Amino acid sequence: MDINTYMEDALGGLHDAGNYRVFAEIERQRKKFPTATFYAPDGTTRDVTVWCSNDYLGMGQNEIVTDAMKAAIDQCGAGAGGTRNISGTNHGHVLLEKELADLHCKESALIFTSGYVSNWAALGTLAAKIPGMIVYSDSLNHASMIEGIRHSRCEKRLFKHNDPEDLDRLMALDDPDAPKMVAFESVYSMDGDIGPIEAICDVADKYGAITYLDEVHAVGMYGPRGGGIAERDGLMDRLTVIEGTLGKAYGVMGGYITGSATLIDFVRSFSSGFIFTTALPPALAAGAVASIQHLKQSARERTLHKEAVAKVRAALDGYGIPHMDNPSHIVPVMVGNAAKCKWISDVLMEHHNIYVQPINYPTVPVGTERLRITPTPLHTDGDVGHLARSINALWSQCALARNVA
Ligand SMILES: *Cc1c(COP(=O)(O)O)cnc(C)c1O
Repeated sequence: MDINTYMEDALGGLHDAGNYRVFAEIERQRKKFPTATFYAPDGTTRDVTVWCSNDYLGMGQNEIVTDAMKAAIDQCGAGAGGTRNISGTNHGHVLLEKELADLHCKESALIFTSGYVSNWAALGTLAAKIPGMIVYSDSLNHASMIEGIRHSRCEKRLFKHNDPEDLDRLMALDDPDAPKMVAFESVYSMDGDIGPIEAICDVADKYGAITYLDEVHAVGMYGPRGGGIAERDGLMDRLTVIEGTLGKAYGVMGGYITGSATLIDFVRSFSSGFIFTTALPPALAAGAVASIQHLKQSARERTLHKEAVAKVRAALDGYGIPHMDNPSHIVPVMVGNAAKCKWISDVLMEHHNIYVQPINYPTVPVGTERLRITPTPLHTDGDVGHLARSINALWSQCALARNVA
């Protein structure tokens, strides 16, 4: 078999299906978020407004964060200098883990190089190293959770999305003595819906299972100190593990889990994905600490963010543009067709200087292709008006359905 031909054919298949991923090349401009420089394929550059960033609160541009990172580089240099085990555990990592444990009211925390790695490594370790573990996984869980569970080769059951009754039904079928773990998310990133945390924990308790909650899209965003949906709803003590990222609302990079001292020590001691990799640069840890500390005591960003989301929804409603109604900050504008979704995104960039990445299969099911819009407190009313007018114009050109008022 000719390997190169195989790879070319596989890529051709993606093109034919309209699923080939094209990355927009941008350069973020410090202090000017959500403006970025777009490097167009024809070699020209121009300013565009980013409407699909996961830097939900603009913390990646916040001077409190960038100043902390610069100071840490001046003090500690660039890299961590090793794995956590061999010379890489810097003072800043320890401070960050204390900050995170405090955020979620847990005994301990453990940081990883990304949220993806934290899910993959923590779920993989808990499921593989605890004999007989059965994992119950929400059917819409993130790829990083699925891969971690798959990698562990444990017994796994998929329960219907956000459905505690289906979870109960599945758990009742298994050996009551088997160790069990329920893995799910709070805010689901593509539909923006929120998991029924309390009801899922009730079922888990009934069968003596531990619980693992991914709060990646909620940390920094919800709760009086930015501890996520579980903090907002007073449920943090119901969760065995709360996992999060430092790369979305906190604006930096890295992932983490929080939990009991024993559980964290267990993952620290047995997880290959934690042990055999270089620790985060101290400057990232310092930036994350500054960001978390700031959002623990300032609700201003969260308040302005909610207002921005409401304005975007209202502006779209004004034109009858259908967007998924959900209780979170994510505004999925439903196109329902891969080619049209990509075309609208391309024209928004080319003619309206608006960057919204099209979301197509396999990230979302066929027929639910969408523009995933993420408003931030730094988008102006002018930005919102321009976005809604531009989508409205393209909606007509594509002859897409509207909501009737
Ligand atoms: C983005 C994401 C992750 C991974 O976090 P990173 O820090 O970006 O690696 C994990 N879980 C969910 C639900 C996500 O959307």
